[in-house]
Parts: sequence; C-alpha cells; structure tokens
Amino acid sequence: MRKLLALCSLIALIPLLTGFVKKQETPSTLTAGTSIAFKTKYHIILVLDGPRWSETFGDSSYQYIPNMGRILKKEGTLFTNFRNEGSTYTNSGHTALCTGVHQNIPNNGKKLPKNPSIFQYLIKQRKLDKRKAWILTSKGKLEMLANTKNKDWWNTYMPSTYCGHKGSGIGYPDDHVGWPIFKSIIQEHKPVLTLINLLNIDVWGHANNWEKYLTSIRDLDGMALDLWKMIQQDPEMKNQTALYITNDHGRHLDGHKDGFKSHGDGCEGCRHISLLALGPDIAKNKEVDRKYDQVDLTATIACMLGVEMSTGKGKAIPELMNR
Ligand SMILES: [Zn+2]
Ligand SMILES: [Zn+2]
Repeated sequence: MRKLLALCSLIALIPLLTGFVKKQETPSTLTAGTSIAFKTKYHIILVLDGPRWSETFGDSSYQYIPNMGRILKKEGTLFTNFRNEGSTYTNSGHTALCTGVHQNIPNNGKKLPKNPSIFQYLIKQRKLDKRKAWILTSKGKLEMLANTKNKDWWNTYMPSTYCGHKGSGIGYPDDHVGWPIFKSIIQEHKPVLTLINLLNIDVWGHANNWEKYLTSIRDLDGMALDLWKMIQQDPEMKNQTALYITNDHGRHLDGHKDGFKSHGDGCEGCRHISLLALGPDIAKNKEVDRKYDQVDLTATIACMLGVEMSTGKGKAIPELMNR
C-alpha cells in the first residue's frame, strides 16, 4: 500500500514538474512517499455502448447529447482524445475497462478475461463485502466481467452482478427495463465501484436504423443526467462520487465498410471514443486533448481507491485527480 501511494504521489507531481501547479499546492503537499487524500469515495463507470464520436461530442452543436454536452460538460472534464486502442468489440472494450489490459476476447460472453479485474483487486485488498462492488449491465453476456480465468483469482473476490434479462446473465433487455433497477441497487448499497452498461445505441446501430440509433443516443444522454442528479440528491454520495461516462468502442466511419452499422476494426470511428468525467477531484468545465486510453481510466480509479493492480497496463490520468 505504501509503495502504491508513493506512485500516486509521483503522478500527482507531474503538473508540478511541468509547471502547472495550483497556488495552494505547495511542494511539501506533493512530496513523493506521502499519501494523497481524495474526496472521491465512490466511483461509477457508465458505459454507453458504441456511439460514434461524430454523433456525440464530435458534433459541437450537441444536438443528440444536449444534457451531456450543455449541462454535464460544465460540471466536469471532457477528454476529447480518449481511445480504445485494443479490440473494438463490446466484450474486449469492457474487459479493457475492468482489467486494465487490452485483450482480444471472444464477444459471446463464453470466455472469461485472462486477468483479474479492478473489482476483484478492490474486494480483496480493501476486504470489502461483495455488495460494495457491482457490475450492472443491460447485456447479459457481460456477466463474464465479474470473473477471470487467472487460476490464482478464478471464482474469488467476485463483485455482485445484475446483468441481462432480470439479472439472469442472458439476454439483451431494453435499457429502460434495467435502469430503475440499476439506480435502486446503487442507492441501496452505495457501492465503492460500479460499472453500468447500456446497450440501446449499439443495438439500433447494428439494426442499421439511423433514426433509432440517434433516438437512443438522446435517451441515454438523458439517463446520464438522471444518474448525476440521483447522486447529487443522495446525502452520502453527493460530493463524494465520481461519474465517468465513456464507451466500449465507437463505430465505423461513414464510407468505411458498412459505416455506423458495425464496428470492430482499427478505423478512427471505432477507436475514437469519449470520456466525460465528473466528481469532487475533477476540474469543472475543462477539456483535455491529451491522448488517453481506456486502460488509463482503470489505472486512475485503482490509484484513487488505494488498490494496486499488478496486472494492469494503464497509467493514471493526472487530470482525473485534480492534478
Ligand atoms: Zn459494444
Ligand atoms: Zn471501424
């Protein structure tokens, strides 16, 4: 733990070394080897499955994401060059976010990730009850995120799940079915770490239905605001919760293969995703154009939770830690 916090402190030193240090942060508060006190106690990753940058933050009118683009963006930091630099399928994208490692994993949910997840590290190292860590997904196949095939970790320290049809781990129910359940689970258990997956955008994209694809982006944009409002109305979670709104992958650019209908290769449309982050340790109304990857978000959250992920490949993002 001490070594880890020293590492976090070194990350915090980056702005000092580059000259971007705030007046109230004296060098003595940023000395390597001392711990950083974060205000954030609860972390929620909200994954909107598969919209393109061009229909979300890449459209400066924010016509399809009025809530995120015009309201939530002012409350947080938008990363304009956030990427999936691994396999741009659903299970791979979510595996990168959960394990901090890019892995080309089959997309059917039949295979477990090679590496233990941040949920497992968290539950083990902080000796948490499994009700303090949740995976809440519309896509049933994503229940595989709770476990790993790593033999030292398999079937141990697994988080709680509610995935798919009635939490059964199968099916693709509409997001409006699971949404009130996901919210009530968060309100009841106040998890230290939660991952939510919403599928409607991706499903209508694959159906090649442009109108419903856009309607779904608008719908899920509303759900993102709804979740942030719920957090602000909770006396315990308010001012202590970070919300990371991101994607597992984008979709093909127009004119490339079948365009918005599909995804899964290395085209810019598939790789360029977004991250809008809000919380007590995150600057408001800020844009960051430095390039970051999904696995860096995992490393950041681990760092802030005081969890050491020896298998994780990402690097913590100073701008998510108010540094
Ligand atoms: Zn997906
Ligand atoms: Zn593509």
